[in-house]
Amino acid sequence: MRLWQRTMIRLARSRTITDFMHASRLMRPFSSRFVGGGDAGQAVATAQELAGEGIAASLFYLGEYVDSEKLVRENVDALLKAIPAMAAAGLPLHVSVDPTQIGSVLSWSLCRENAFRLARAVAEVARGGSHPARPALMLDMEDAGVNRETLQLYFTLRENDLPAAVTIQSYLHRSLDDLRDLAAEGAFVRLVKGAFAESPAIAHTVRSARNASFKAAVDVLFSQRARERGVYPALGTHDHRMIDYAGMVAQANGWRRQDWEIEMLYGVRPGYQRRLVQQGFRVRLYLPFGRSWWPYSIRRVGETPRNLAFVLRSMAGA
Ligand code: FAD
Repeated sequence: MRLWQRTMIRLARSRTITDFMHASRLMRPFSSRFVGGGDAGQAVATAQELAGEGIAASLFYLGEYVDSEKLVRENVDALLKAIPAMAAAGLPLHVSVDPTQIGSVLSWSLCRENAFRLARAVAEVARGGSHPARPALMLDMEDAGVNRETLQLYFTLRENDLPAAVTIQSYLHRSLDDLRDLAAEGAFVRLVKGAFAESPAIAHTVRSARNASFKAAVDVLFSQRARERGVYPALGTHDHRMIDYAGMVAQANGWRRQDWEIEMLYGVRPGYQRRLVQQGFRVRLYLPFGRSWWPYSIRRVGETPRNLAFVLRSMAGA
């Protein structure tokens, strides 16, 4: 599985393949499965359709590991346009961002500056809104090389009273300690298993250990103490076993269904997403938009070969 994942990550990072895929029409249907639109307007329209089904969205502008100032500006501008557009459409305010798309590859001070601009934009428009779900600039967690700085960025935003949230990857050995710190301050935390091919020195790499680490993290996030502190957990997983487990721990520790949410990727297990909504769970979808769809989409294939079926089907229909 790690070899498969590494290969897909290599395909995602290859500029030649990315340019070819973006130019070719062959794989367009594949991208539309996982991508909510080419621009902010289309993404907001998709988010409105989802809202009609009781599903919230977190908008994410496609583009990662960006090493040009021009592209960083473009990424930030796209989100600065999307935030008021979401508010104008009456949608709950939530955008996700990778530090490497808003400047961290060039310098962390540039990344910080941009994160502040985005978080302030969320705070500004959220003030007038009445949606009960917490508004947030959600920091995605990328490879372990940027883990500490991303967490530090989260704490700096919170110290300035800005609506920030952060993603924690349960597969990292350090994550239980990080979660305890975050639980103590009543954080909005998205818990995921982790999507990078990290070394066994710092991460659980075997499936059974990855699942056990996710459950251990659920125990911390859904403890009674975390509830009393005002923690708002988001479970970023498509794994029904993990969701069932969290639901059980949550219920045992007095969490109501509106005190936490389940997050999934747009296009992955849509039937299951809707069943969860019918059962009264809060569901939010990570909704990417923009033109740079190849790296994001091929990473999804890296996470589970099941998603390869979409590629093959879309190629057959192209
Ligand atoms: P897996 O471990 O892939 O699968 C477990 C089981 O779930 C499968 O055996 C199957 O029974 C079921 N299942 C899973 N997918 C499917 C499917 N397509 N169809 C049918 N059954 C399926 N990772 C990061 O490293 N950093 C981030 O910031 C980050 N943000 C994320 C945000 C969101 C909202 C989500 C949903 C994921 C995010 N991830 C992130 C990715 C995450 O770390 C995992 O790599 C990814 O979600 C795959 O793991 P999983 O828990 O969904 O299930």
